[in-house]
Amino acid sequence: MHVARELLFRCAMEHLKLKPLPYDMHALEPHIGRETVALHYEKHHAGYARRLKELITSKPEETANLEWMIRRSEGAIFNNAAQIWNHDFYWRSMQPDGAGAPSGALNEAITSTFGGFERLRRDFLEAGAGHFGSGWLWLVSHRDSLRITTTPDADLPGRYGDTAILCVDLWEHAYYLDYHDERARYLEAFIDHLANWEFAGANWSNARRALRSCDARVDDRPPKLARDRPRTPTPREDGLPGRLYIDWRAQQDSNLRPSGPQPDALSN
Ligand code: MN
Repeated sequence: MHVARELLFRCAMEHLKLKPLPYDMHALEPHIGRETVALHYEKHHAGYARRLKELITSKPEETANLEWMIRRSEGAIFNNAAQIWNHDFYWRSMQPDGAGAPSGALNEAITSTFGGFERLRRDFLEAGAGHFGSGWLWLVSHRDSLRITTTPDADLPGRYGDTAILCVDLWEHAYYLDYHDERARYLEAFIDHLANWEFAGANWSNARRALRSCDARVDDRPPKLARDRPRTPTPREDGLPGRLYIDWRAQQDSNLRPSGPQPDALSN
């Protein structure tokens, strides 16, 4: 292998290393048991990482980082890459010491979008319970407000121009040992006891900052240079699938990241 390519390959593989859990495996008890977390992290989450490595070996993607694969790939490579990203986000959407409550700018946005936390909670539970089959439940930044949404299988809101604020894994492996088929009880435990509103608040602030800087770039652009600039992907006005836009930088607050090798550094 060419030296430069081998270096890129090693770098990419470093990016794909499994992120450590942000807490001990028993830390979410009694709401999510140690056995669930161990199986979920060591078998399911690690399994996606292992399969992704197998899939990209000797392929053009083998020197790409996770974000590139999510943005540019389809099929099995997309599914496994997206599941790694979603699980990293899920583990960080929970905290061991009780859910607390949203505060600051996020709390203001909740009041303006939902009228208050109780309505958000109700809509969140309804959306999660109503989602058919496997997938993910999200609180997202949709343009200038909050929105609750679900995605099937490995899909994620970044593909539709939204920025993830908080998420819940709706696959049965996330709750079956603790709650059997009672997804509603699992979702209640999440929102009442586990949701990490500090993480959500930081994601909301970052999303707002990214949106403002994007607006500023557009507004400040001298008209004569506009046509020479590369087009920045922007969310579709109608919010429909088709335009891929993931603001990864908004989700990379260094304060929220564990120590050790990080898989999702952006090259641009
Ligand atoms: Mn899962």
